[in-house]
Amino acid sequence: MPLYEYVCPDCGREFDKMMRFDQADERPACPTCAGKNTRKKLSLFSAKGSAATTAPSGGCGPGRGGFT
Ligand SMILES: [Zn+2]
Repeated sequence: MPLYEYVCPDCGREFDKMMRFDQADERPACPTCAGKNTRKKLSLFSAKGSAATTAPSGGCGPGRGGFT
């Protein structure tokens, strides 16, 4: 189940909640003030993992200098 982050604009409370996919559009009540004005923040479902393994940086690659 994806974990969603919500924020309550009424009291400023931020909380996260596991929601099933069919509940994803529902707004859970704020655990502090029980308000229903909660807004979904960005979901952590597609959190960025370790995307550090990309092309090697630098090194002694082919120079781009134009020497004749
Ligand atoms: Zn609240």
